[in-house]
Amino acid sequence: MRDIAAEHDSDAAAERDDGDGDGDGDNRAPEHGDSAAPGREVPAPALDEYRARARAWIEANLERGQVSGLRRGDTDPAAIAAGRALQRRLYEAGYAGITWPREYGGQGLGPEYERAFGQEARGYRLPDLGIAGGTTFGVCAMTMLAHASADFLRRHIPRILAGEELFVQFFSEPEAGSDLAGVRTRAVRSGDGWVLNGSKIWSSGAYYADWGMCLARTDWDVPKHRGLTWFAVPVTAPGVTVERIRQITGDAEFCQEFFDDVVLGDGDVIGQVNDGWTVAQTMLMFERGGGLSHGTRTTRTTRASTGVAPDLVELARAAGRLADPLTRDLIVRAHVDDVARRALLGRLGARMRTDPAQALHLASYAKLVSGVHDPIRADIAMRIGGADAVNWETMGADGAHGDAVNRDERPGDSPGPKAAVGFLNSRFMSIAGGTNEMQRNSIGERVLGLPREPSFDSGKPFREVLRDARGWSSARE
Ligand SMILES: Cc1cc2nc3c(=O)[nH]c(=O)nc-3n(C[C@H](O)[C@H](O)[C@H](O)COP(=O)(O)OP(=O)(O)OC[C@H]3O[C@@H](n4cnc5c(N)ncnc54)[C@H](O)[C@@H]3O)c2cc1C
Repeated sequence: MRDIAAEHDSDAAAERDDGDGDGDGDNRAPEHGDSAAPGREVPAPALDEYRARARAWIEANLERGQVSGLRRGDTDPAAIAAGRALQRRLYEAGYAGITWPREYGGQGLGPEYERAFGQEARGYRLPDLGIAGGTTFGVCAMTMLAHASADFLRRHIPRILAGEELFVQFFSEPEAGSDLAGVRTRAVRSGDGWVLNGSKIWSSGAYYADWGMCLARTDWDVPKHRGLTWFAVPVTAPGVTVERIRQITGDAEFCQEFFDDVVLGDGDVIGQVNDGWTVAQTMLMFERGGGLSHGTRTTRTTRASTGVAPDLVELARAAGRLADPLTRDLIVRAHVDDVARRALLGRLGARMRTDPAQALHLASYAKLVSGVHDPIRADIAMRIGGADAVNWETMGADGAHGDAVNRDERPGDSPGPKAAVGFLNSRFMSIAGGTNEMQRNSIGERVLGLPREPSFDSGKPFREVLRDARGWSSARE
């Protein structure tokens, strides 16, 4: 994988102006933890010293407790606000973006410092910004750091690190998912800027995000992969409508957006105009787990991954089946799968570090592992939970137990309902960011060198593809 931090260190050294006209490079938050001027070489502290300082700060500033307070689809604005406030405190103390470039508000330190901070923070509450937090830090910001202009990064990255800007992904459309290069949301040149029209769908967490990273068609007269551009779109801009989509679990984490003459500037472009496919490849790499080796987050979104299937042990105990030999067999089966999965992900991370050119395609394995393994594990949980996993009391938005007919209510947090919700959500990874079939295609073609699938539309101008497709549908009628 590319050393993004190093790349941007040199970019920024060449380009010192912060774009606000005063030439002072002052776009970082004023109270930010380190006091050196942006871009100036600062010797890294000794690791032991850093660890000791981090430990003292953590003890004085963070609460002990569970990592995650937010459930998927949590709608509570107070929880999000608390997550943002905590993220700001980390940023001000210099513990957000530990490995991110100093020019953009990070600390420019090596992954060993981030690891040290993570180890010291174990058992303390870190900011939880839900699904949009994971997308912001793990996917969008990483993609921006690889492709956006220095001016864009100086405007957005410090705000991201301070918890002020949550970004989600606007790429799927009602008629473009696996065929991502077929998007039809259009951005048209208008004066000094752009006007955006169209619709995106399945955007996770857009209802509480600040910005969306949006893929739009900017040239219809070239083949479909070549006329695309990414834009940063403010979710509250005039002309943007966000509608939530209710899921089978009762959550409403997905959204559909409608863009009606949304005005954007050149400064909102991420990467080069009409080279959006290159940016998309990077984004998909991070989305599929290609960022495994790049420690980035001081925001926690993932479950602890140690112990013998602790969630299943808890479930079996709650269901009174811990001594049952068949249940124990299932728990061991899940545990062995967990170990194999962790080992494979570790190995993939190492391969990606040594073979960065293959990272996108290797990431398909990581994605496929989850897409295949999650449903198997969820099925095991249902078999262990039995009736306990299909019958739950519901909880109101305030966390109080409530009435099952209220559509805003979601299952509670005890082991049985958690297994049921896990089962309903278990196909997520087999679809999100590219389905299992698309990962297999990618592995077959790009890693194993098998022949490419025949394509009828990738060589001709996208306008003609649409015209021909209209011809086929009317011929069938
Ligand atoms: C949990 C979750 C979170 C998501 N979050 C976001 C988000 O934040 N932002 C966003 O923009 N989108 C998001 N998505 C949308 C996701 O990226 C798309 O659902 C996905 O790319 C598949 O597209 P589709 O739903 O249009 O299915 P389709 O592309 O219509 O696919 C339908 C079926 O056809 C198969 N298929 C299609 N083409 C081929 C082919 N060439 N070869 C073999 N099989 C093929 C697929 O594998 C699938 O089984 C999310 C989806 C999920 C489930």
